[in-house]
Amino acid sequence: MKTTDIFKKKRVFSFEVFPPKRTMPIESIYNTLDELSALKPDFISVTYGAGGSQSSYTIEIASKIKKDYGIESVAHLPCLYLSEDEAKNIIEKLSREGIENILALRGDRVPDTEPEKRFGYANELISFIRGENDNMNILAACYPEGHTESANKIDDLRNLKRKVDSGASHLVSQLFFDNGYFYDFLEKARIAGIETPIEAGIMPVINKKQIERMASLCGASLPVKFLKMMDRYGDSPEAMRDAGIAYAVDQIVDLAANRVDGIHLYTMNNPYIAKRISEAVRSIIEH
Ligand code: FAD
Repeated sequence: MKTTDIFKKKRVFSFEVFPPKRTMPIESIYNTLDELSALKPDFISVTYGAGGSQSSYTIEIASKIKKDYGIESVAHLPCLYLSEDEAKNIIEKLSREGIENILALRGDRVPDTEPEKRFGYANELISFIRGENDNMNILAACYPEGHTESANKIDDLRNLKRKVDSGASHLVSQLFFDNGYFYDFLEKARIAGIETPIEAGIMPVINKKQIERMASLCGASLPVKFLKMMDRYGDSPEAMRDAGIAYAVDQIVDLAANRVDGIHLYTMNNPYIAKRISEAVRSIIEH
């Protein structure tokens, strides 16, 4: 099923997982998938290493989620390091596996590695996928606070519109900790004529190290309420974990009350956290 069809029926609650490194056996993620699938998300998306084809577990895992667990899956595909032939092969392989959803991305630059020249931006990959396979549902990333490389939010929004005009029909947002940025972005996206479902990306922060890395990588603002929580509980693993879960739940309750299209939970392959959050918000999201 295409993810866009799920939005026609309900508010969506979905998960993101990342594949094990190629040096690990693929089976190392199976327990995580068992536990996450028991929470019955509307779909699970599987990330893809920025460097390109070495992360081919993505397709196997997306395929397993769909075939063995009966849950819709989305395969991420960053394009900066992809040649046209590689992109073509991946699209064909996904199609053979019955996977109908691709999250088309540019990806980030890998230090000391020259990108392929074929795809410079996500919109170019989106157009390519459209040309190769008209039946594929294409998702794209969006940035409530603007993409870190973008000079300003207006240019970033124009580039987002380009992705939608090229064929993206469902957007998933970067993580954020202040819902105000998401509402502001949503309003501007709708004014700009973007009519696709837009899912809010939520990352529960359960330890101090995680946030220091994530926030500097993706440029998410940290509200005072969040900083106070980190300051107060950051040195106590259990209290920080519970505070991080409560913060994410609070964000989701507010987003659902404001009738957002869906919530995409960055699970970090942690079923315990996903379970606690799912149990806390299920009836609220479905209301
Ligand atoms: P683009 O949409 O191409 O945008 C990149 C930058 O270029 C932006 O500043 C934009 O404003 C600008 N731009 C876009 N198009 C044009 C154009 N035509 N001309 C000029 N400027 C333009 N990375 C991975 O490696 N693997 C993953 O699995 C992965 N999953 C992700 C999932 C989500 C939900 C999100 C939000 C991000 C994910 N990322 C992943 C990270 C993503 O690859 C990076 O954020 C990357 O820097 C941008 O990717 P993009 O597809 O949004 O790029």
